[in-house]
Amino acid sequence: MIDEKRIVELFLELVTIDGISLHERNVADYVVNQLKKLKINSHEDAAAQKIQGNCGNLIVKKDGGMDSLPALLLTAHLDTVLPTATLVPIIEGGIIKSNGKTILGADDRSGVTLILYLLEYLIVHHLKHRNLEIVFSVSEELGMFGTMALDYSQITAKEALVLDSSRPPGFYVMKTPTTIDFEINFIGRPAHSGLSPQSGINALSMANEFINRFPLGKIDNETVTNVGVIQGGNAVNVVPSNIKISGEMRSFNAETLKFLQFQITSDAQLIENKSGGKIVIQFTPVFDGFSLREDMPLVQQLEKNINSLGLTPEPLIYFGGSDANVLNSRGIEAINLGVGVQNPHSMNEQIKIDDLVTMSHLLLKMVGAEAA
Ligand SMILES: [Zn+2]
Repeated sequence: MIDEKRIVELFLELVTIDGISLHERNVADYVVNQLKKLKINSHEDAAAQKIQGNCGNLIVKKDGGMDSLPALLLTAHLDTVLPTATLVPIIEGGIIKSNGKTILGADDRSGVTLILYLLEYLIVHHLKHRNLEIVFSVSEELGMFGTMALDYSQITAKEALVLDSSRPPGFYVMKTPTTIDFEINFIGRPAHSGLSPQSGINALSMANEFINRFPLGKIDNETVTNVGVIQGGNAVNVVPSNIKISGEMRSFNAETLKFLQFQITSDAQLIENKSGGKIVIQFTPVFDGFSLREDMPLVQQLEKNINSLGLTPEPLIYFGGSDANVLNSRGIEAINLGVGVQNPHSMNEQIKIDDLVTMSHLLLKMVGAEAA
């Protein structure tokens, strides 16, 4: 039997520990302590130095006596997007939420809870299972910093489950786009707007022309773009000479992304020639998209196990990124599973206890064990 009370206890202990991105030390210490009680060793990699955080990724290995099966990697991230130290958890009608003053932190302490509970369950019930490799990653919320800095020499698994999608159990991410950030600096020439506006080059007009040419929003069925930050100007009586805009583009089609970059560059040239100003563009790849296939063994196993729990497998096309993007780009087939978190990153964040229980059943099946 899955012990619902124990899951809730672990979850509440985990969410009341503060651990925002780059400051996961106390959460990691808690996890290491729980693992010690189970006589499981963990190893912290050197990511802390690389990303300037106070904690690295925790890597755990647990043999399960099923050496004929390939190892499976499980991951969840330790960090939360906002503090949870003052969290007052409320349980009502089978739902755990905060009192509205903080986030709940179910993203992703629910994933951490599920992995800790799984390990405890396997040990207490002496169950055989697929050999497991586990990564509790750091600073996922900043853009998967932890898994990008992960010590991959420690990982042999070629299949992974990421416990971090804010959808109900049964949902999983099948396809995500590639994302590229861009920053564009429009450099004009300052001039007194009252005395000699004609001697200035207006960087805002340059940026305005650029924006009018650039397709914004959902530009086709597989591509979205945004300009989210606009900065610049010095004084009301000075022709603005510096405007910076920052944005992103996400697409399932690599050709579209190439074309958009080409368009940005050629539009910039045209505006430079016309205005006499200068435009400096920087593109930064954020994460690579991936597309899993129906015939992948892990996908097939997942669908079978979701069905056996009486749920319907719901493959998702998802425009966000997660540790699954980084793992897939590293050649590890990674599926991000819905764990049931609702309204993540908000004061209304919540999770159903039933979803945590369902996910525990699903994970036991995925590692080749059954509830005792
Ligand atoms: Zn998350």
